[in-house]
Amino acid sequence: MTDSYRHQGMRRRLVQEIQQKGITQREVLDAIGTIPRHLFLDSSFVEFAYQDKPFPIGSGQTISQPYTVAFMAELLSVEPGHKVLEIGTGSGYQACVLLELKAKVYTIERQRQLFERTKAFLPTIGYRPRFFYGDGYKGLPAFTPFDSIIVTAGAPEVPDALLSQLKVGGCLVIPVGQESQTMLRIIRTDTNAYKREQHGAFRFVPLLKDKANDL
Ligand code: SAH
Repeated sequence: MTDSYRHQGMRRRLVQEIQQKGITQREVLDAIGTIPRHLFLDSSFVEFAYQDKPFPIGSGQTISQPYTVAFMAELLSVEPGHKVLEIGTGSGYQACVLLELKAKVYTIERQRQLFERTKAFLPTIGYRPRFFYGDGYKGLPAFTPFDSIIVTAGAPEVPDALLSQLKVGGCLVIPVGQESQTMLRIIRTDTNAYKREQHGAFRFVPLLKDKANDL
C-alpha cells in the first residue's frame, strides 16, 4: 500500500479540478489532497482513482465522485469536534473526508460485506470512524443529537427519524428523488422548525429500505 509522488501529483491535479468546479473551503480541498483514494480501489484501477468520477467498488456499490463528496462536505459546515452521522459508509471515502475535517464520525452501512470490508480497511490507513451495521433510515437513536447528518445514497423521501436526531442549528444533507436526486440541505432552526434549501441535481445509488441485506 504505497502512496508515491506520482499518486500525490495525481491528487494535486484532482484538487485543482474540483476547485475549478466550485469547491472553495480550504479544509475540504486539503482533505481531498490528503486521502490516498487509490487505496480504496482495486490496484488494477489506480488510473481511475484520481479522475473526478464515481467508480464501482464491488457489491453493486460505488465510491462517490470526489466533487460530490467535497460538495456535500462543504454543505455540512463541519467544525472540529462536531458529531456527524453518515448513512451509507460504502468505501469509507466520505467518512475519511469528514475525519480530516476533525469531526467525530458515526457511519452506518446496511450491506454486510461492504460493512466488514470497510471496517477492516480504514484503520489500516489511519482512519477510525465508529462503524455501525444496520438500516440508516432509523439513524442512531442511542447517539443523538448530531451536529449534522449526511446521506450518501439517493433517498425516495426524507426520513423523519433523521430530522429528529439533529441538534437545533444542525443540518441534514440528503439527495432526494428516484432516477436523479435533488441535493437538499435541511436546517433545524428550532425544535419544531426546519428550513429546506435545494442545491442542484445529482445521481446516487438508492437508499434501500427495510432490514439489512446480506448479499
Ligand atoms: N459514502 C460512500 C458512498 C456510498 S454509496 C463512499 O464515500 O464511498 C451508498 C451506500 O449506501 C452503499 O454502500 C449502500 O449499501 C448504502 N446504503 C443503502 N441504503 C442504506 C440504508 N438504508 N442504510 C445504510 N446504508 C445504506
